[in-house]
Amino acid sequence: MRPGRRAVSNSGGAETPGLWWQGGGSQHSTTHHPSSAPRRLRSPAACRVVGSVSGRFQIFWEDGIMSGYRHPKSSALDCVLSSFQMTNETVNIWTHFLPTWYFVWRFLVLSSSLDFCQEPYHWPLLIYLLLVCLYPFASSCAHTFSSMSVRARHICYFCDYGALSLYSLGCAFAYGAYTMPDHWVSGVLHHYFVPVAAFNSFVCTGLSCYSRFPELEHPRLSKVLRTAAFVYPFLYDNIPLFCRLLFCFWSNCTWNEAMAGYCYHLLFALLTGFLFASHLPERLAPGRFDYIGHSHQLFHICAVLGTHFQLEAILCDVCSRRTWLQDRLPAPGLPGTFGTAGLAFLGNVAIIGAFTSALPRAPGSFVSPPSVPTEAGRHMMLWGEQLGCKGLWGPSRPGTPQYSPPPPNGGRIG
Ligand SMILES: [Zn+2]
Repeated sequence: MRPGRRAVSNSGGAETPGLWWQGGGSQHSTTHHPSSAPRRLRSPAACRVVGSVSGRFQIFWEDGIMSGYRHPKSSALDCVLSSFQMTNETVNIWTHFLPTWYFVWRFLVLSSSLDFCQEPYHWPLLIYLLLVCLYPFASSCAHTFSSMSVRARHICYFCDYGALSLYSLGCAFAYGAYTMPDHWVSGVLHHYFVPVAAFNSFVCTGLSCYSRFPELEHPRLSKVLRTAAFVYPFLYDNIPLFCRLLFCFWSNCTWNEAMAGYCYHLLFALLTGFLFASHLPERLAPGRFDYIGHSHQLFHICAVLGTHFQLEAILCDVCSRRTWLQDRLPAPGLPGTFGTAGLAFLGNVAIIGAFTSALPRAPGSFVSPPSVPTEAGRHMMLWGEQLGCKGLWGPSRPGTPQYSPPPPNGGRIG
């Protein structure tokens, strides 16, 4: 389609002169004539406003990410295919999809050398490994299918938060079984450590799912709630680790591989939290890191690296402390391991189900965007393009519902 200058009638019959639209193949882009946009409006802030005018679109908007958005009403197939196209979600999907298979591979290799069925000593490790495989997989699925609708986006991230929360419980299982400081073994904290962590997983999932509800009206509150939801169980789970490291520094203990691994894990966990909260680097240069290098991708990579070092450190403890721990602790039982993990899993599923059923009551966030944008939405998208917020709904395959230019018969040659 050749570019042409057109004036398009809006629904009220008024004309928007100086409108350009052009397309080629499956892609269409639409812009106003550049001269009609005041230069001061061509800013990230203006794009933010454009993206936020309609609540139904705002929920998809990420701070500092100006382009590469998929259409918010994609089909499941389009979502899967979009993981092979360059959108602002592509790297998010792969940075958790590939590590999922790395952790599955580690699990299978360990299964060949450790007896997970017959030896109760390894049951907490088994639970930890299963949850380590689950959380990147859930995250990858959430990023893949989050552009199907507003409702699907919420449900996808509810599941993502639930899996993260269960991973946190998995850490508590592993730390409780293999990482406790020597003089805490069999103590009161040790006794209640995992049950409290299971309770924390309900709080974490509940709070993080709830944080999606005030996302439109109170984005800061939403961010604080979500950050707190994950920082709190992280701090709790790592109490044994912090104390063990402190005791170790205090008493000049022998530095072993496990301690080094835990330090790397904490370093990457710190980086993960910082990236999640700061939205750097895209906040400093909006639009520069839309496809590669934005904070969520770095957040994924740091989380995976942190989990890798954590897994290796736990495996060191599993082997090196086995005799010492087995002399002081009873073998883990089925109710305390799989029973607790199963109840926590069911409880988390129930919480996610409850929030899913409450979605229609979420202010402003329950409306599914129409497959054809409203006139108001259409004009906001035109303005977005004019202000330089190009590709707001990024590339998609032919036939994908996407933002389309006004129909040629809706205007006249200007
Ligand atoms: Zn993510």
